[in-house]
Amino acid sequence: MPKKILLIYTPLCTPTNPPYSLFYLPSLIRAMSDYEIRIIDLNVELHKHFIKNPFNDFNDYNNKAKRFHKESGKLYKTINKALRDNEELPLFNEFVNLIQEQNPDFLVFTCLFNQQIFYAVKLAEHFKGKIKTVIGGPAATDYIKEHFDLVTSDIVKLFDFLDIEFRHKEFTVDYNIFDVSAYYTPEIVLPLRTSIGCCYAQCAFCNMHGFKKYIEFDPGFVKKQILPDKNYQLVDNIIPLNRLAKFYDYFGDLNIRYIAYSRVDKNPASEKFKKAYDSGCRVILWGVESGSQKMLDAMKKGITLEEIEKTLEMSNKAGIKNILYLIIGFPGETESTINETIDFLKKNSENIHLVAPNIFSIQPGSDVFNNPKKYGIEKIIPEKRKYLPPLYGYRAKGLNHEDFVKLKSKYKKELSSLNKYDFMFSVYKDHFLLRADEL
Ligand code: SF4
Repeated sequence: MPKKILLIYTPLCTPTNPPYSLFYLPSLIRAMSDYEIRIIDLNVELHKHFIKNPFNDFNDYNNKAKRFHKESGKLYKTINKALRDNEELPLFNEFVNLIQEQNPDFLVFTCLFNQQIFYAVKLAEHFKGKIKTVIGGPAATDYIKEHFDLVTSDIVKLFDFLDIEFRHKEFTVDYNIFDVSAYYTPEIVLPLRTSIGCCYAQCAFCNMHGFKKYIEFDPGFVKKQILPDKNYQLVDNIIPLNRLAKFYDYFGDLNIRYIAYSRVDKNPASEKFKKAYDSGCRVILWGVESGSQKMLDAMKKGITLEEIEKTLEMSNKAGIKNILYLIIGFPGETESTINETIDFLKKNSENIHLVAPNIFSIQPGSDVFNNPKKYGIEKIIPEKRKYLPPLYGYRAKGLNHEDFVKLKSKYKKELSSLNKYDFMFSVYKDHFLLRADEL
């Protein structure tokens, strides 16, 4: 007899658009079984209860977004307090009832972010012994394995658990699988994946370092799932420029618009950016990280300042908006290298639309984590957390995290002045995509 699966996305994260797993998993399960699958985004349910959706249009966007950001922050604090004081999480009983109404055989939790783990654990504990529970996604780790029947992000293991025979057969992601009208956005931006892994995998701070598995899906196959005339957020780690240009040959006739992460190109060419634009690319997120060659080399970025300049210029000329991610405080950084970065960004400000500076943190799995001494880190200090992997602090030979918090604050104004548009667009990037043609 066909069984019933309830796929759950738990609070708390940004409710602007749905995650890829809410389309991918049900599409895959339907392709390989006759199971009934239902989807509940409890994150949206929680937001709907506590915060009115302010994103019906783009009028007064920055203020609306700031207010929303603040209210959402309060909600995060309320949840943290409930966890700390061992109190019930907001709307917990309502969520239990929602799940019970569905009467599922399996609860499948999918979590992208650490903050989503708490509701998943509490709900799994509540249904322990009554409904089989499994959790997957980047935030699901062995630190919560005692609370679930299974923790895995391996599709074959998941299917084995669900008692579905996994067959390697072609299937397409179905974007009509559930109603997306409740998300906090003026217009839906659908998630789309075109590859797995990273084509570079050498940045010293990144947990993709040394990761060999990089698979590009055939663009013809990707095209089969794309709905024409829609907006997409490409959830790939990196899409190299050559591939973005190649998309034109496949998606050029679909009238889509998309935002994607790419990597500064060793051989940028205007023609490639034009083709990327014509394939629908409107915003590129660049992990530029620094405007100091010394720091780029220390991070093993494998790019030069000259290549960054050319890349940003050609991208902008093609009509693509450039959002730059920066890392402040990688080992070896000084106030002088921060100033070099600011000077470099100012020099190229014509081709920069938004900047998103972040303070360096140690990621397990990165080369810095595995070989700290090589980077001048004397000690890595793990801080235990309930249900989550430890948070890693460090002691370095030069400046430390606290110093960089102060320096980031000192240069906040100068960095902010590089933003051509409302800063909140760098927080809600999917919204920026929706406005990219008009700005
Ligand atoms: S930072 Fe980006 S380009 Fe570098 S290894 Fe990680 S995913 Fe790849």
